[in-house]
Amino acid sequence: MTVQEALRQGARLLSAEGGSDEANLEAELLLGHALGLDRAHLYQHLREPLTPEQQSAYDGLLERRRRHEPAAYITGRREFYGLDLEVTPAAMIPRPETELLVELALDFAGSRVRGQGSGVSGSEFRVVDVGVGCGAIALALAANLPPEVRVVGIDVSAEALALARRNAERLGLGGRLLLVEGDLLGPLASPVAVIVGNLPYVRTADWEAAPPEIRCFEPRRALDGGPDGLRLIERLLRQAPAYLKPAGALVLEIGDKQGTAASALAGQAFPRAQVRAERDLSGLDRVLVVGT
Ligand code: GLN
Repeated sequence: MTVQEALRQGARLLSAEGGSDEANLEAELLLGHALGLDRAHLYQHLREPLTPEQQSAYDGLLERRRRHEPAAYITGRREFYGLDLEVTPAAMIPRPETELLVELALDFAGSRVRGQGSGVSGSEFRVVDVGVGCGAIALALAANLPPEVRVVGIDVSAEALALARRNAERLGLGGRLLLVEGDLLGPLASPVAVIVGNLPYVRTADWEAAPPEIRCFEPRRALDGGPDGLRLIERLLRQAPAYLKPAGALVLEIGDKQGTAASALAGQAFPRAQVRAERDLSGLDRVLVVGT
């Protein structure tokens, strides 16, 4: 079987209807992983036959995917905001919609850093990513903010922090990211300029009904936000006033129907702040932005 035939066969196997874009992409990812080639190189070898070892490695990966293991966990890789990240079941897989949160946080932090001018020591401008996971948000911010901005990542999971550390080192951002184990903002010794986070916000009932890709493979504590999904976000909002500097911002990912409820919680915690719920490209509530 040639590379091209293997791609077709894989895509057929992975899609019920035969040939969805998603199945094509996943077949490419899995075959690339089996052959040790990226997608561009795969396409330069379309007519070459697979060795029996390559064929059986590919079959093994397709079988794992058919048993609902996410492709990102099989290949151990996921792209987020232009960064090639290692992902493992220690942390949830970064989602494309979270790039909106990165954009909003970059807008705010970028304009604040420029506004401070050069007289302000950079160590004073800190951005905290609560529930840092594999490091996707924190590293996207570190990679795109001026080098004097210090990014701090907090997580309750030591395993997730080790993963975030490996990602930071591999991307050459090790010196830009401080990683701390702890619960929400608890580990912070002093207030910061910006708090961001993609905390668990899925309602428990929705988590129970989620596809096996999510429910059986991703860490539940990264996703399940309790009966209304807002348990951790509410706790964070209660803590946040003590940890946010004046004229700071809080940028949190929320669920698609949580805009009103999350805004109300933010209004209680920050009565004088500007609160808004931003929608994503699909028109769904996605990011809560609080400007103090
Ligand atoms: N967007 C994720 C999902 O629906 C949930 C992310 C989260 O809980 N922070 O799978």
